[in-house]
Parts: sequence; structure tokens; C-alpha cells
Amino acid sequence: MDENCIFCQIISGQIPSTKIYEDDKVLAFLDIAPVNDGHTLVVPKKHYVNLEEVPEADLCEIIKVVKKIGKAFKQGLGVLGYNINENNDPIAGQIIPHLHFHIIPRIENDGLQLWPQRKYPNGTMQEVADQIKKAL
Ligand code: AMP
Ligand code: ZN
Repeated sequence: MDENCIFCQIISGQIPSTKIYEDDKVLAFLDIAPVNDGHTLVVPKKHYVNLEEVPEADLCEIIKVVKKIGKAFKQGLGVLGYNINENNDPIAGQIIPHLHFHIIPRIENDGLQLWPQRKYPNGTMQEVADQIKKAL
């Protein structure tokens, strides 16, 4: 537990939350500022800052819960689809440095914009692929 972490404080019960699911490793609760009703955060109970820190076994438990909740959105809320988002590090929009997956129910014309895309300048696509591959 990181005493200064707001999600650790939610997990320990010091800060209230609206819980959706809980087991010994994972907690899921409603985001306090939802994109759409039902927007849920799924977090490991142990404090890991981001995806790179979490052990694979814990990640498996987290993603299983993400899958379960996505299904429940469809059955329980009647939504037709949802986005899963996980921000790594401040430059990517991570405000709370405790790993969390957002599950965002989507509704028709909700105005949520996904990212703009562009093309690779000539010849650079393979170069970028090679840079990633050699770091794997
Ligand atoms: P991120 O930008 O990926 O770090 O997202 C952090 C999310 O945590 C935001 O969507 C916030 O609305 C949400 N959040 C912050 N404080 C609370 C809280 N006390 N209870 C529930 N969600 C929270
Ligand atoms: Zn934490």
C-alpha cells in the first residue's frame, strides 16, 4: 500500500467507492467522473504504478475481471459495446499512478472521440518496427 495513493486508499476503505466487483487480488469500482454511465475502473489491490510493473499472474487476474465486467455491461446496461483504456505515464494521460483499466460503455452519438491517425512518411514504417523489435 502506498499511503499517498488515492486508489490504495479506496482499496483499504479509507475513501468510499461504488464497488462493482471484488476478490482477493482485484477491485472494480465506478469512475467518479464517467464518460458514460457505468464507466468502471479495474485495479490490482497491490500498488503497481503501470503495466510494466505488474507481474503477469496478477495481470491475468485483472484482465479476467475486465472481461467479466464488459459482458455485464452488455447484459446489465444493455450497451452494444465498450472501450478498454489503460494510460501509462503522465504523457499518456495517467493521472493516478496506480495501474487501472478503464472500461467505458459506448452509446450511440456519445461524442467520445478516439485518436486521430496519420500516415508514416516514406520508408519509415519498417525502421520504427525494427526499433521496437530489437528492444523486445
Ligand atoms: P487516469 O487519467 O487514467 O489516471 O484516470 C484516473 C481516473 O480516476 C479518472 O477517470 C478519474 O475520474 C478517476 N477518479 C479519480 N478519483 C476517483 C475516486 N475517488 N473514485 C473514483 N474514480 C476516481
Ligand atoms: Zn496505489
